[in-house]
Amino acid sequence: MRLILLGPPGAGKGTQAQRLVARHGIVQLSTGDMLRAAVAAGTPVGLKAKDIMASGGLVPDEVVIGIIADRIELPDAAKGFILDGFPRTVPQAEALDALLKSKGLKLDAVVELRVNESALLQRVEARVAEMTGRGETVRIDDTPEVLSKRLAAYRSQTEPLVHYYSERRNLLTVDGMMPIQEVTDDIERVLSAIVSSEKKTAKAKASAKKSASKTSAAKPAANRRTPAKKTVKAPTKATKTAAKTAAKASSKSKPAAKAAKKTIKTSKAPAKSAKKAGKK
Ligand code: ADP
Repeated sequence: MRLILLGPPGAGKGTQAQRLVARHGIVQLSTGDMLRAAVAAGTPVGLKAKDIMASGGLVPDEVVIGIIADRIELPDAAKGFILDGFPRTVPQAEALDALLKSKGLKLDAVVELRVNESALLQRVEARVAEMTGRGETVRIDDTPEVLSKRLAAYRSQTEPLVHYYSERRNLLTVDGMMPIQEVTDDIERVLSAIVSSEKKTAKAKASAKKSASKTSAAKPAANRRTPAKKTVKAPTKATKTAAKTAAKASSKSKPAAKAAKKTIKTSKAPAKSAKKAGKK
């Protein structure tokens, strides 16, 4: 599973990411953590990022894109990952799309944690108090002044991603103002809906492909890129099955619906059965 957690500073991305890691056995990739590690280690990236981070601005796109591109290559990311703090700008989102596409990978969902801005300062103050209480080093950007700059950066550069991903039908919005466990439960609920519909689509695709490949030595109708012009008069058993299977999945999946349409165009008879199946 490959996910993005989207939300302003203090929305609870880190907390929820850790819970997702524990539950799904995937890794959390936090650009904030990686950059802080780079700053602490004094690497060239760290030197570039240090002052920008301290002031609440955003590190240049090419720096974080490079970090993520390298990171998702590592073996522990093969099973899936949660991106926390990335992408933070539209160019970062576009770079991620290109990166995943080049690897033949798909993004499963973008979970937006929606919170009241008025609660954020309080949350960050509480985090500072807890960390101080535990004797941990407090982040230098966790001050009210820097927080307001981080929020401004979120509003102007990151919030447009809500629109970006909702247009691509990837966005799931969860109310981040609820207690932690309820937020976790809600995330799991929306994710399980996605996972089960993806499983169904994959199954339908696989069986449509299987039946279509059984037909003849000629290119199977269900897989044709350009539909044949009504040349098939008597539909074979396999085309019928392929049309049915694809049409069944059509309410949930666009690609399957496309496959169904393609099959329908090749002959009149399967079109009927596909429509029937689609109505169910
Ligand atoms: P927050 O709690 O504000 O979401 P993070 O720990 O995710 O903070 O990030 C801390 C800082 O690291 C940011 O304010 C920014 O300077 C830098 N940073 C992290 N991720 C990115 C990114 N994807 N693009 C640019 N800068 C980033």
